[in-house]
Amino acid sequence: MEYMDFENSDIDELLELYRKHLNDGEKLLSSMRKACERGLYFGSKAVEDNVIKGIFTFQRDIVFTYPHPDIMERVMKAVENRETVTVDSLLVLPEMRGQGIARSLSERNKELLRKNGNELVLAESWIYPDGRAPSLDIYENMGKVIFKEEVPMFYSDSNKYGIICPICGEHCKCGANILLIDIT
Ligand SMILES: [Zn+2]
Repeated sequence: MEYMDFENSDIDELLELYRKHLNDGEKLLSSMRKACERGLYFGSKAVEDNVIKGIFTFQRDIVFTYPHPDIMERVMKAVENRETVTVDSLLVLPEMRGQGIARSLSERNKELLRKNGNELVLAESWIYPDGRAPSLDIYENMGKVIFKEEVPMFYSDSNKYGIICPICGEHCKCGANILLIDIT
């Protein structure tokens, strides 16, 4: 497995992974493409045989998948004007899980972020309807958690924003742990 920087030219492969494993919906995918063209995405990828097996990317904004003004207000108070990026995607192909790929991507990203002067990472850690939260320990291990809020049904309005959940479809019942992690 090779670990390297995510590049803008990876966008087609990233969108395909998104469609299959994270979120679908034309509106979302086209706005991602535009953001990528504007250079808003960065992070790391794990590659084997010229195929992306895992990805962990960020965007240079403080945003949620779609607006949650109340929660964002509390997040911004905790941010206190420090340099903050938002996790865009963390994904390891199902057949490649359990090999420490996410952990390696996370370690690599921590170096990358520190080098760029970033101090805080905002993450929406997905909670499936059955209560599993597979990415939580990856995020929590990146540094010191300075903000954490568990929000049931965090994605319930997804369909209004053109986002389709790969598990629930149009009526998403997934929740999220909203985390702010100090990586300094
Ligand atoms: Zn869902």
